[in-house]
Amino acid sequence: MMNSIFIFIIGTIFGSFYYVVGTRLSNNESLISPRSHCTYCNHVLKPYELIPIVSYLILKGKCHSCHKKISKEYIIYELFTGILFLVGYLKFGLTYEFCIYLIISSLLVLIFITDFKYMIILDSPLIIFSILIICLKWYSFGLTEALFSILQGILAFLTMLLIRQIGNAIFKRESLGGGDIKFQFIVGLILGYKFSMISLILATFIALPYAVATMYIKENKEVPFGPFLVSGLYLIYFFYEKFKYLLYFI
Ligand SMILES: [Zn+2]
Repeated sequence: MMNSIFIFIIGTIFGSFYYVVGTRLSNNESLISPRSHCTYCNHVLKPYELIPIVSYLILKGKCHSCHKKISKEYIIYELFTGILFLVGYLKFGLTYEFCIYLIISSLLVLIFITDFKYMIILDSPLIIFSILIICLKWYSFGLTEALFSILQGILAFLTMLLIRQIGNAIFKRESLGGGDIKFQFIVGLILGYKFSMISLILATFIALPYAVATMYIKENKEVPFGPFLVSGLYLIYFFYEKFKYLLYFI
């Protein structure tokens, strides 16, 4: 029980951090300065105003200085990350699988923040997490296995590149973003090539209703694909024991 609470709190701290990273890097702002502040009155947040969830509740969702409303996104992403971390811990325990799960969850949160709002998948988390995954594989299964995973990542990346070329030719416009293609490298790295394709198909199915709804509701008809790609990866990883039966059919 204590462990679960601890993991949840760690998750909320990471969620808070990812929100700052995601919004600042998407706007080409520095991570270090300025310090966390109110976006309306520039009041620099004191330590007690920086505690995930708790601060929001204490401050009743308003800036201490100018009493303007603080974006609900903070608390939503803090809670969301806390819950993701907790659910993974309950399923995997403190294992290698849990380490990879934490990386997938972190990507999920970051891509949701940046791609829905700014239509961007940041390069730096993709690079950092790729290196982390390769190191984890190397450490747990040896160099050959790690290299084999990299190869599958490259294959998944190249397949996505090919799909974009075909898509561009058919639709006569940019069909896939560069971030989506780079992201598929990580999917191949984690799940292997075959499952990276299943993940892609799953992502397309999840994205479809959203894309159709967007066409009717929004003026700007651009649909970010990143959140759906990472959701596909997350679902297959989390429910792997159910999805692995698909391998008999391909
Ligand atoms: Zn303020």
